[in-house]
Amino acid sequence: MMFDYTSLLILLPALALAAYAQWKVQSTYSRYAAVDVARRTTAEEVARRILNAEYVQDVSFESVDRKLGDHYDPRKKVLRLSAPQSSSVAAIGVAAHEAGHAIQHAKKYAPLALRSVLVPVANFGSQLAMPLFLVGLFTQLPILMTVGIVLFSAAVLFTLVTLPVEFNASRRAVRALELSGVVTTEELGAVKQVLSAAALTYVAAAAMAALQLVRLLLLANSRRR
Ligand SMILES: [Zn+2]
Repeated sequence: MMFDYTSLLILLPALALAAYAQWKVQSTYSRYAAVDVARRTTAEEVARRILNAEYVQDVSFESVDRKLGDHYDPRKKVLRLSAPQSSSVAAIGVAAHEAGHAIQHAKKYAPLALRSVLVPVANFGSQLAMPLFLVGLFTQLPILMTVGIVLFSAAVLFTLVTLPVEFNASRRAVRALELSGVVTTEELGAVKQVLSAAALTYVAAAAMAALQLVRLLLLANSRRR
């Protein structure tokens, strides 16, 4: 079953897209991590300015020791940056994007709130879905397969809701950088490339999850007949 090649073929486009997105984000980030913005503003300074401009003042900053590990933690209201003192186009673009998430949180942007609600459901779902589905498949208990599929759907929904959240954070970042004047038009173009590459990884993850769900549905159907 796990080696059901026909159903594995369904995943191929998503696998190819995921591999391409990984390569694209790594190569684009590396390229622009080596290019400093003319004004030499640091990534953390840029994020602080963007937050101040939106009157978001209760966010604290921490470093994270992982390349591209930058994120905003809405529970603790902490913005963690991997290169806070860097003035590179890549670090500034990513910091501005994370500031975008902090602003979404402060302004109660609905898709972010929905995403937060879905986190535990999706975690639970993605851990239990496959084992339940497989047990159902082998023991010929359709109810278990159905429960597995429902749980997996929660994980798929999570990856779909993540898309508007990510696109919106990047849009906010680009607009804020444009207004702040810390980057030139050319640098802004490079920031957009970094952020588009990052966005593609989320598109790939959503495509993978959606096709995985299709695969489960097909497997369940073929066993029921
Ligand atoms: Zn993001």
